[in-house]
Amino acid sequence: MIVLMQFGATDEQVHAVCSTITAHGLSPLEMPGEHMAVGIPSTIPPELRDPLAGVLGSLPGVGSVIHVSKSFKLASMDWQRTRTAVSIKGVTFGPGNFVVIGGPCSVESYEQFSSAAKIVKASGSTVLRGGAFKPRTSPYSFQGLAEEGLQILKQVGEETGLVTVSEVMSGEMVPLVADYVDILQIGARSMQNFPLLIEAGRSGKPVFLKRGPSATIDEFLLAAEYVLNQNNPNVILCERGVIPLDRAYTRNTLDLSAVPVLKEYSHLPIVVDPSHGTGVARYVKPMSLAAMVAGADGVMVEMHPNPRTALSDGSQALTPDQFADLVAELKRLGGFQGLSVG
Ligand code: PEP
Ligand code: MN
Repeated sequence: MIVLMQFGATDEQVHAVCSTITAHGLSPLEMPGEHMAVGIPSTIPPELRDPLAGVLGSLPGVGSVIHVSKSFKLASMDWQRTRTAVSIKGVTFGPGNFVVIGGPCSVESYEQFSSAAKIVKASGSTVLRGGAFKPRTSPYSFQGLAEEGLQILKQVGEETGLVTVSEVMSGEMVPLVADYVDILQIGARSMQNFPLLIEAGRSGKPVFLKRGPSATIDEFLLAAEYVLNQNNPNVILCERGVIPLDRAYTRNTLDLSAVPVLKEYSHLPIVVDPSHGTGVARYVKPMSLAAMVAGADGVMVEMHPNPRTALSDGSQALTPDQFADLVAELKRLGGFQGLSVG
């Protein structure tokens, strides 16, 4: 429920609304803006809904009371009508921008990561990715360099001035990873790891939340809600493909229709990951361009200085030349749409 105050409502009138909500055993959330509003993010017992709306609606200074119909509240367009822009060190995920995140699947060594970062930088992209903790299907596959990988990430981030993003796989690891990177990535397999979502929210760091391979849009936005509910407004959604009908041609099915749907129902920025979405390097460019046209706020693309030697996800990694070509094409296409690309 959202209580929209009249234009020019006084602080006392807003306080009266808040104390009425508290008196009903619920927590108010003040939402300052062009138009002051007070929200109730938690579920309201059904028998309380109408009486509470009646009481609040009759208080002085109240314009209207809006019922939020979706199960996700803070992430919804009902709650916040202006689009969220997540800004980190001068890079903004949000209206007017198309952010290109590039880098290898895993941080493998200083040399590998630094050379990837130079290519990302030279292309004009602004965000560097690289996994230090890797969620692998097999325990025998490369698991990442762990803290050593984070150290490399931080060092290379500082050397290049690129914003960094890396995955954190458990709530306990949030403080460690948050110490080294600018943006915390929550992987697709962890989208419903609720203690992790809460810790990531509490860290205050921007959170890059990937959609689970079998998550519905509601489940995805409710996962975002866990982070937002920790008073952390900086959530970036990422569509990275859902379980496919068959894996003969692509690793996942990139659900590009999720982009306009999420844009309609949520104010959060949405980035597309065509690398995990297709699993095939040659499909990354067409799907990246399609993501831009669909209205995405950016792409996350895996690139490796030498994909054939990659310790993870080599088959979907672009070569340096392919990456440079992709960014150039995105800039060209973005020019027609008035987007600042990079
Ligand atoms: C990754 O970004 O390297 C990754 C593991 O992605 P996802 O969680 O989408 O599979
Ligand atoms: Mn990967």
